[in-house]
Order: sequence, then structure tokens, then C-alpha cells
Amino acid sequence: MPTLFEKIVQGDIDADIVYQDDSITAFRDINPKAPVHILLVPNKVIATANDIGAGDEVLVGHMMRVAADIARNEGIAESGYRLIINCNDDGGQEVYHLHLHLVGGRPLGAMVPE
Ligand code: 5GP
Repeated sequence: MPTLFEKIVQGDIDADIVYQDDSITAFRDINPKAPVHILLVPNKVIATANDIGAGDEVLVGHMMRVAADIARNEGIAESGYRLIINCNDDGGQEVYHLHLHLVGGRPLGAMVPE
């Protein structure tokens, strides 16, 4: 079964895609938590952060660099933003296809609730 995010990558489910290349896709979160809330995903499935292999280092680094480029394009690079990867239950992961949240456009407050 393809993951929800694979379906978005393949164009089988609509999403507001802001960036796509051979290895990653970035699209706006359907339920944004801030004025800018974009998800960056590898085009291939990596289920969780635990599953990032040594061969994925370039891919994950690419996700980080493109996130910074998108932040610049969205006009939030200077005001600031947060990059988040949730992992498994305690991390609050809902979709088991690795994704990097790019969130910004307002002060984000404490990093983790007390
Ligand atoms: P997680 O909690 O797994 O770190 O984040 C999953 C994110 O995917 C959530 O922020 C949620 O709003 C987003 N999401 C879930 N379903 C869809 C969808 O069908 N389209 C888009 N664009 N985002 C989705």
C-alpha cells in the first residue's frame, strides 16, 4: 500500500506542491499550524527517522538545504522558523513516511510543551 505522501508525490492525491525534484517533494500542510507550514518528504518511502540509513545522508541533507531555500522564498528566513521531524508515538508522528515540517511566519513559542 502506498503511503499518503507517496500518493501526493506521484500526483494521485492533490496537494499544493511548492517544490519537487528527483529525490524530494515539498507541499503545504493540509492543516497548517502557522502562516507557513510546509512538509518536505523523500520521494521514496523512509518510514521514520529511525529508518534513515547511511545511504540516505545526502538525501536528508538535501531536504534540509531545500527547506532553507523555501523559507527564503516564503519570506521567513530572517524572521525565523522551525524544522521538525516527529518520530513514532511519543513524537506525535501520524504519517509513517519521513517528513520535515517547515513552520514559521509567527513567533512559535516554546519548542516543547512543559
Ligand atoms: P506528523 O504528525 O506525522 O509529523 O505530521 C503529519 C502532517 O501531515 C500533519 O501536519 C497533517 O496536517 C499533514 N497531513 C495529513 N494528511 C494530509 C494530506 O492529505 N495532505 C497534506 N497536504 N497534509 C496532510
